[in-house]
Amino acid sequence: MEAPTKYFDFDSPKEAMNHYASWPQQVPWGLFPCRKCRGQGWEYDPDDPPDPVEGYKLVRRLKCEVCKGQKHSSLAEDKVAFEAYIEYHKNSYKQKMTEYEKHNITVESALAKLTADEVSALKKEWTQRRF
Ligand SMILES: [Zn+2]
Repeated sequence: MEAPTKYFDFDSPKEAMNHYASWPQQVPWGLFPCRKCRGQGWEYDPDDPPDPVEGYKLVRRLKCEVCKGQKHSSLAEDKVAFEAYIEYHKNSYKQKMTEYEKHNITVESALAKLTADEVSALKKEWTQRRF
């Protein structure tokens, strides 16, 4: 089991913004990206399917319904959405880390019951198997 990935520092709003906003370098100080379009100002038209070859390149773009193309705002809802995003990732990371630590403790306690010969025999056996 691999350690869970921490995508950004949860105590740094700047790093969180880099992860949250579509164009983080364009977010003005004190404003928050629109909660729906994440600061893009537009969305793909759901009635215009992507081309099998060109993908989303030629899909019609509509002005975002929530921000009307304004991209960023000082609205409380947008701030709450940004904070909820940080909170969600923080809790998700904590939960995965707890699971990971619990797994490691289980593995350690299982290995502690085995002799060195048994451990090396299992290593040889398990590196050949495909799970
Ligand atoms: Zn928007």
